[in-house]
Amino acid sequence: MSQIFKDVVELRRGDSEGNSMVVKLTTDGGTVIHAIAVPQDWPSRTGPTWTYLFENEGLTLIDAGSTGSYAALEDGIAQAGFTVSDIERVVITHGHVDHDGAAGELAQEADAEIWAHEIYSHLLPYNPWDIQRKAVSPIQQEMRRVTGENTQSHDSAGPRHSEYRTRHEHYIGKRKGYEVKGNIQDGDSLGGLRFMHTPGHSPDEICATLDGAVFTGDHVLPEITPHPTTKAHYSDDIKDRLPEAYRDEDSFYGLNTYLKSLKNVADLGREMAVLPAHRLFNKGRYNFQTVSRASEIIRHHGRRLGRIVNRVGRDGTSLEALTRGFFARRKLIGGNLYAAMSEVVAHIELLEDIGDIRLADDRGIHSTGSENYKQLIHELTS
Ligand SMILES: [Zn+2]
Ligand SMILES: [Zn+2]
Repeated sequence: MSQIFKDVVELRRGDSEGNSMVVKLTTDGGTVIHAIAVPQDWPSRTGPTWTYLFENEGLTLIDAGSTGSYAALEDGIAQAGFTVSDIERVVITHGHVDHDGAAGELAQEADAEIWAHEIYSHLLPYNPWDIQRKAVSPIQQEMRRVTGENTQSHDSAGPRHSEYRTRHEHYIGKRKGYEVKGNIQDGDSLGGLRFMHTPGHSPDEICATLDGAVFTGDHVLPEITPHPTTKAHYSDDIKDRLPEAYRDEDSFYGLNTYLKSLKNVADLGREMAVLPAHRLFNKGRYNFQTVSRASEIIRHHGRRLGRIVNRVGRDGTSLEALTRGFFARRKLIGGNLYAAMSEVVAHIELLEDIGDIRLADDRGIHSTGSENYKQLIHELTS
């Protein structure tokens, strides 16, 4: 069935997107990993969150799924032949609702420990939107202007779509109460599990290797390219809380950071199997891949950088025109416009850093004539 895993046994078949599926995977080295697909409790294009359960110094779960999905997680664990009280710890790949939303309930019900990258617990008291949506540069101010998020007020930051917002606020409130027992640093290990800090999609993102496989969270996904962060700037009170090593925002946010983290995963070696948090199964088939997928994602961004440089030209164009040229109109409504535009902004920030484009005083985006991005992508993929 798969050349990447020695054995694949479906313990429960889900729908065509994989919702509620439970699969027993055996790695080449003989390690058994139960893959449990936890459905989102809202319509989602990314599909269920794939969580992974295995024995490693006690029963360990990677990710817990969304707020509102705890019952589905518990049911999937039972289907795999375990009970939640068997679980020793849940390792959160990063602080996004579809990964840590149900971690609090699990920790409580199972008396399990929450583990996450060290930076995660420092950022827990804050709403990530307050960090990510604060306009820190002229191009980000332009994004706010176009998407209608002009205000600097914390209360009104974020999409105006109220259902989404209510859910997000509920989640942020809930996770403030999380007690993190395991504060992970890059290079730490636990039994056979070895952690890597891979920021870029999220500042606290970790990947973890285990016997020829790597849990990639949202860092490396099949079929879809994870959303890179734009540059961020911490307020003084956040900076004061953070350990010295985590105060340089540019090392944890932005496309350049994300691409470097992708290279670190690609460098794990061609044989390493990817266990992603989404799309392990979709449209009725498995997406078993190796870490060469990380290089594919780097090349995807390389092509996008090239297209941006070509489209803006010497005469220049606006952020809005550039974004609308890249995405279908139907995808550019409401919160989706912000998502699409921030993706373009992440690329512009990198191109500006390496000197391939410049921002004029009127916020027009112009090419400088250089194509330094080619060398950058070459270094990251060789
Ligand atoms: Zn995510
Ligand atoms: Zn996710």
